[in-house]
Amino acid sequence: MKAKIDLHMHSHYSDGELSPEKLVKECKKLGLEIISLTDHETVWGVEEAIKAGKKSGISVIPGIEFSCNFQEQEQHLLGYFIDGFGQLATGYKNPELLEFLKEVGRKRRERFLKMIERLKNLGFFIEYSEVKKYARGSLTRPHLARAIIKNKKNARKLKELRIDTKFESEFFKKYLTEGKGAYQDWERPSASEVIKLLKKSGGIAVWAHPKWKCGGYKETMTKALELRELGLGGMEVFYTRHTQDQTKELFQIAKELGLAVTAGSDFHSSNFSQYNKIFAWQDFGIEEDFLWLKEKSSVS
Ligand SMILES: [Zn+2]
Repeated sequence: MKAKIDLHMHSHYSDGELSPEKLVKECKKLGLEIISLTDHETVWGVEEAIKAGKKSGISVIPGIEFSCNFQEQEQHLLGYFIDGFGQLATGYKNPELLEFLKEVGRKRRERFLKMIERLKNLGFFIEYSEVKKYARGSLTRPHLARAIIKNKKNARKLKELRIDTKFESEFFKKYLTEGKGAYQDWERPSASEVIKLLKKSGGIAVWAHPKWKCGGYKETMTKALELRELGLGGMEVFYTRHTQDQTKELFQIAKELGLAVTAGSDFHSSNFSQYNKIFAWQDFGIEEDFLWLKEKSSVS
């Protein structure tokens, strides 16, 4: 028997829309059996997700997603079982992890203050206090977009700019993505730091959506090898935006390097233009890999 899994989802504690409890309910409707909540740089939703999972009979793996620097490029790493395998009492409350997240949160805040300044210079009305109202855990760029759109003082300007305010992603794409007017980069932790921390917290590090910034086989293989050197344990082979060919290639690389294969939708909200669906992966021998992943994390 194979389990239905989706190991990459966001809640309203980062840039998702649903509460962890609602998210788990949605997963239940889809017949999922094992899921993970992987909010950006926060574990605030984990406990709620685990509790809701217990009620619904779904296994919830404590998870997180980190943005990090790897070879002067932004890459994302997912952390699973950060509570130490099977024990729900410690880990995601691990003091070192929490300390690290606090520091990352401070850097994120600095970045957002700068982006708010840029937005103001571009003639938009926005205050940090408003943005904070929308962010329960991690501050994220969709929160900035929301604060702009919800502020009536911006209505005229947005209309003039022909920005459809029904979708926050419209504003996001035009102003908040890399290279756009209000974008500000930030000092991300290194992949090596993040992997070490995840392992110390009893967890396993998985390379999220490896094809996000990788072209062909050679480049992906080289990066995977180097990440494995740093202690990487798995690769998110099955992913919403990977093509079938990319999936096959990644599967082969993961097998060759002895890395666990995972699957994730990156679900944020049904209102997102992308990442608007939860998946239920159950084919391709995922369960065997998943069991292997658990085994691996318990010995690290
Ligand atoms: Zn994600």
